[in-house]
Amino acid sequence: MLHYLDNAATTPVRSEAVTAAVDAMTQWWGNPSSRHQLGGDLTARIKEWRRQVAVALGCLPEEVYFTSCGTEGDNWAIQGAIHMGRHMGKHIITTTIEHSAVLAPIAQLEKQGYEVTYLTPNAQGTIDADAVAKALRPDTVLVSMMLVNNELGTILPVREAADAIFSAGSFALLHCDGVQGFLKMPFTPKDLGVDFMAISGHKIHAPKGIGVLYIKKGRKLPPMIQGGGQELGLRSGTEPTAQIAAFAAAVTAGKETMERDIAHMNEIKAYAIDQIKTHLPQVQVLLEQTVAHILPISMGGYKSEVLVRFLSDRGVCVSSGSACHRGKASHVFGAMKLSKPIQDGVLRVSFSYDSTKEDVDKLIEGLQEAGKILFPSLS
Ligand code: PLP
Repeated sequence: MLHYLDNAATTPVRSEAVTAAVDAMTQWWGNPSSRHQLGGDLTARIKEWRRQVAVALGCLPEEVYFTSCGTEGDNWAIQGAIHMGRHMGKHIITTTIEHSAVLAPIAQLEKQGYEVTYLTPNAQGTIDADAVAKALRPDTVLVSMMLVNNELGTILPVREAADAIFSAGSFALLHCDGVQGFLKMPFTPKDLGVDFMAISGHKIHAPKGIGVLYIKKGRKLPPMIQGGGQELGLRSGTEPTAQIAAFAAAVTAGKETMERDIAHMNEIKAYAIDQIKTHLPQVQVLLEQTVAHILPISMGGYKSEVLVRFLSDRGVCVSSGSACHRGKASHVFGAMKLSKPIQDGVLRVSFSYDSTKEDVDKLIEGLQEAGKILFPSLS
């Protein structure tokens, strides 16, 4: 039996989303741009799916743009915001703990002559609330700050960043990578005061290949893809109707049960913390004040890659930080300035609405066994 505790990497597709995708592929398989009835029906359906997503995000349907993934949304918002502010300045503010979907396009801009201020995390794994206010300059055109860090699970002060931009009378645009926050904590892009927010389907029990970029009304991003003019002319290409249908279904179902799901994940997380403290003295809980679904721990002296494989052989799936690092050292734990043995032994445990105490028990058993069988620092 599989004990899947890697929900920050990806989530299983929920049944509502599967049904919606199958319906779209079998009954609603037309091209929304066709002028005949099949196309017209599908146009109406996409309108409805967009409306459902907008309801969950507390925004207008015309602020919802379907993308292929969170990475695309991050890239589009960053490149688009820079384009919008190209006559205003060349300074960007971001954090050292962003996902590579944000850091890579910003590094590219740095090579093109942009100056970047990288805010560093404090001991609690978040960014100080006044950091953006201190870093803002008259030539700042973009602030990019994630809502929830994907490896630490910490919540960043995005609302405070928006307030700082407003108070300074700055024209900087605010992009937020909302991938790990959406449906894991209550918020709306409007409440946070952001101009753009990227969201990803596969983190919320929808399939891979679908995401959303929220673009605040009035913000005129240049098109991501040019062609037939779909997505209000900003992202051309025939709409991936099955993915959109599944995404809307996952969002609607997830929003309905969000409060209960968050309470459940918090309970499982608290149980895991308690069990680790009771049974695994060699394991350190790195941060407890995290979003409901993410718990960073470390078995100092052991190599996380070895632990991940050891646990996997026993049916327990966790990760050694972000799945996107593919074995490279995590820049996030590096930014936290943890000691080398603690960094080497980091594991990210991440929950979903269907995680159980039994999953946690298997993790604890696996780590206990690892402590007995594996020698520290072996790789
Ligand atoms: N941003 C964060 C915080 C993430 O955790 C991820 C995925 O791990 C992404 C962006 C990228 O999302 P996607 O996998 O949909 O491209």
